[in-house]
Amino acid sequence: MHFMKVLFYSSKEYELPYLRDVLPPSLDTTFIPELLSAKTAPLCKGYDAISIFTSDDASSEVITLLKKNGIRYISVRAAGYDNVAIQAANRAGIVVGNVPEYSPYAIAEHTVALMLALNRKLIRSHQQVHQHNFTLDHLTGFDLHKKKVGIIGTGRIGSVVAKILHGFGCTLMAYDVNRNQSLEHKYNVFYTSLDTLCSFCDIITIHLPLNEQTRYLINKRLIDQMKRGVMLINTSRGAVIQTKDVLDALPSGQIGYLGLDVYEYEKGVFLYDRSNDKLTDTTLDKLMSYSNVMITPHQAFATEEALSNIAGTTVYNLTSWAAGRISENELTYIEIHSPSESSVTRVTQ
Ligand code: NAD
Repeated sequence: MHFMKVLFYSSKEYELPYLRDVLPPSLDTTFIPELLSAKTAPLCKGYDAISIFTSDDASSEVITLLKKNGIRYISVRAAGYDNVAIQAANRAGIVVGNVPEYSPYAIAEHTVALMLALNRKLIRSHQQVHQHNFTLDHLTGFDLHKKKVGIIGTGRIGSVVAKILHGFGCTLMAYDVNRNQSLEHKYNVFYTSLDTLCSFCDIITIHLPLNEQTRYLINKRLIDQMKRGVMLINTSRGAVIQTKDVLDALPSGQIGYLGLDVYEYEKGVFLYDRSNDKLTDTTLDKLMSYSNVMITPHQAFATEEALSNIAGTTVYNLTSWAAGRISENELTYIEIHSPSESSVTRVTQ
C-alpha cells in the first residue's frame, strides 16, 4: 500500500463527515481551519500533498513556498480553481487536480432559489407574517413565465439552469465562447453577443469561471445597456462582476434585483462566523442595506449530494497520486495564440 500524508487547509465542520466516510487508510490526513497563504504555507512541511478550497491563496509566490516544503500534489475541493497559479504549479512540478463536476444541480437550483426569493419577496413575506402582518403589501412579484432570461456561461451549471428555466416557460438567451447545440435544440436557447443579451433580458445569471478574460466582465458599460429594473444573479465568482459598478446601479433602480452567492471580497468572510467581530467592509454593508439585494455566503454548492461527491473525487485524486497513477482531473496550463486575440490562456483537463 502507498501512504500519502495530506494536509487539508480551510477544513470546515460541514465537510468532515463526508470526507471521513470515504478516506482510506492509505491517506494520512490532518485537517486545519487555516487558509493557505504565504504565512501558513510552512505548515505543510512533512506532507506530500495539500487540499485547499476556493479562498485559499495558491498564487505563484505560495506555490514556490509549497515546493520548498516538499509538496508534490494539490487537490482543490472545488470546481473553480481561479485561486491556483496553474502555470506556476506545472512549472514547479506540482500536480494540481480539482473536482470538475460534483453537482451542477446544487448550484443551478440555488441560482433559481435566489431568483424566486427575490422576485416573490420571500424574506419580507416571512418577516411580515412573523409580525402577524398578513397583508400582501410590498409582496407583488412577476411571472417567470415568458420572461427573457440571459444565461452567461452555458457549461455544466448554466446548462442545468437552462433546463430548469425552460420548465418555467422562460425565453432563454445565452452567451458563451462555445455554443451548446443540445441546449439550442432542447430548450430553444438563443446564443447571442453579450451586449445583445444584456439589452434584451429581464433576468441575467452568470455561470462563467473567473479568468483573465472574465474578470469584471459585467461592468458599468454593460449595466447601462441592461433593461431598467433588471434582475442580476451571480453564483459563479465575485470578481466576474465589477462590484462597485453594480452598487452604483442600485439607487436609481437600474438594477432592480441583485442575488449574490459570491462576492469579490468574500475571502476570510464568507464561510466564517464573523458575528462577534467588527467587519469593516463598507461595500458589503452598503449591498446589505438594500431590500432588493439578497446575499448568500457561497452556499450554492452545499447540498448533501455535492459534499459527498466532492469528498469522493478529492479522495480519488489523492489515492490516484498515492498509487503513482494520473488522475483524470489534473489541470494543465496551455497558451493558445490566435490571430484575433494576441494571446489567450486556457487551463485544460
Ligand atoms: P464549466 O467549465 O462547465 O462552464 C463554464 C462555461 O463558461 C463554459 O461553457 C465555457 O465555454 C464558458 N466560458 C469560459 N470562459 C469564457 C469567456 N471568456 N467568455 C464566454 N464564455 C466563457 O463550469 P461550471 O461547472 O458550469 O461552473 C462555472 C463556475 O461556477 C465555476 O468556474 C465556479 O467559479 C463557479 N462555481 C460556483 C459554485 C458556488 O458554490 N457558488 C460552485 C461551483 C462552481
